Amino acid sequence: MSSVQVAVVTGSNKGIGLAIVRALCRQFPGDVYLTSRDPGRGQAAVAQLQQEGLRPLFHQLDIDDLQSIRALRDFLKEKYGGLNVLVNNAGIAFKVHDTTPFAVQAEVTLKTNFFGTRNVCTELLPLMKPYGRVVNVSSMVSSSALGGCSQELQQKFRSDTITEDELVKLMTKFVEDTKRSVHEKEGWPNTAYGVSKIGVTVLSRIQARLLNEQRKGDHILLNACCPGWVRTDMAGPKATKSPDEGAETPVYLALLPCSADAPHGQFVSNKTVRPW
Ligand code: NAP
Repeated sequence: MSSVQVAVVTGSNKGIGLAIVRALCRQFPGDVYLTSRDPGRGQAAVAQLQQEGLRPLFHQLDIDDLQSIRALRDFLKEKYGGLNVLVNNAGIAFKVHDTTPFAVQAEVTLKTNFFGTRNVCTELLPLMKPYGRVVNVSSMVSSSALGGCSQELQQKFRSDTITEDELVKLMTKFVEDTKRSVHEKEGWPNTAYGVSKIGVTVLSRIQARLLNEQRKGDHILLNACCPGWVRTDMAGPKATKSPDEGAETPVYLALLPCSADAPHGQFVSNKTVRPW
């Protein structure tokens, strides 16, 4: 088993994920895994970074596929005996003018952004080594979507005692409510992407709390963040940041030094903790 440190970035064949891998290849003192659900797109991205003189490694990972997540888990366990840095970056968003029925958008978006990210955490967080760093890429949209929730939902999502099961039930309820066209009556905002990212931010707060309870002394830091508005296939060419600029906050959180005990369980943008 290798004693080399290891970092994994989900959804990193393009966009912000690729830029995070680029920065980690330059700054992280260990192996950096570019992952992609499609091996062809992943290998092409590896080749692109190799052209820049960098040496990322590749592993297939589709966060919608539990078998794929478990294959990566087993590989990391076997080869490295754990994991030092995990960046949950993979995500999807329907375009504003997409005519796919809202209930379908809700189901598909939540499946990847919330349930897929949660499955990766369930399988990989137990592998995190002492002083490990976990970064869940959420969005400022999670904050604005929270503001669009009913007072009752806001209270639940801001709660310091909400459990993962309760959060999963709420995310499932959102999808069910959209199918019955009652989501607005039930206090939800009209944004599937926003609700999925509320899920990512709240999940991060819960996971950080669990780390405090169950692994105190291991100094693992876990945070959610917003990369900013970034020029990628998701956000389009008018966005204000380049992918490399969008990678700055996630990479800052991924490389928090061993001496740091904060931020932890926070929502961070532009390297600054934001109120939730
Ligand atoms: P992007 O260019 O569309 O890249 C998304 C990446 O996620 C792609 O590599 C995509 O792979 C991958 N992905 C999607 N579903 C996946 C799955 N089931 N399994 C594994 N990988 C999957 O988007 P981006 O702008 O870089 O976004 C990266 C993250 O930042 C997302 O979580 C997004 O919500 C968040 N974010 C972006 C912005 C922004 O302004 N761009 C703002 C706030 C937050 P394929 O190539 O196979 O589709």
